[in-house]
Amino acid sequence: MMVKIKCPKCNVEGSISMVESSYQGPYRCWKCSALFTIKMENNELKSCEPLSQEEFDKQQEIEALKAKFKRQ
Ligand SMILES: [Zn+2]
Repeated sequence: MMVKIKCPKCNVEGSISMVESSYQGPYRCWKCSALFTIKMENNELKSCEPLSQEEFDKQQEIEALKAKFKRQ
């Protein structure tokens, strides 16, 4: 399902696709390209913290690896 997230920086609404009702990982605003680490619980945004490009790349790698392992 898709869950809407409002960018804390520019207030533009974006969305992410959720597989489960909770999620923790990187999010990039489509409008201002701001990077955040978001934490979702029960499809609600619990925390949203600014993220550096370096950390964002690292987190995306981890997410990609996780997805890879899940498929096997
Ligand atoms: Zn934004």
